[in-house]
Amino acid sequence: MSNYVAEEGEKGKICSMGVIYMEFVLNGVKWGVQFVRGTDNRLRRSDGVLTLGVTDAIDGKIYLSESLTGSLLEHVLCHELTHAVCFSYNIYIPIETEEWLCNYMADHGKEIIYLLDKLLQSMERRRFA
Ligand SMILES: [Zn+2]
Repeated sequence: MSNYVAEEGEKGKICSMGVIYMEFVLNGVKWGVQFVRGTDNRLRRSDGVLTLGVTDAIDGKIYLSESLTGSLLEHVLCHELTHAVCFSYNIYIPIETEEWLCNYMADHGKEIIYLLDKLLQSMERRRFA
């Protein structure tokens, strides 16, 4: 099992998780998603506590603990993506409210979007039937 951690610019490197570094664009703002060791200082929140994921608007990076897999990875990544959306669209809300929103999206966002898609597909089928 590799413990290799990609540094900036090393795109498409492979580790035990699969792809270790990915990029995406939100509202014209470029972001990177990078897996790092669970003890990496980039996973420290502003209060010094180590966490599983951090969105750093200055670096333009989402740092994720390489220990994350499955539903916990999905939850943490969705939470961090919601922070990235807030930054990318200049949505400034009190941090406690933003954390609540990010948790709400991580808990329910996929369910809402999947249901939206399903209902819209059903409406389209009925309209053209
Ligand atoms: Zn958060």
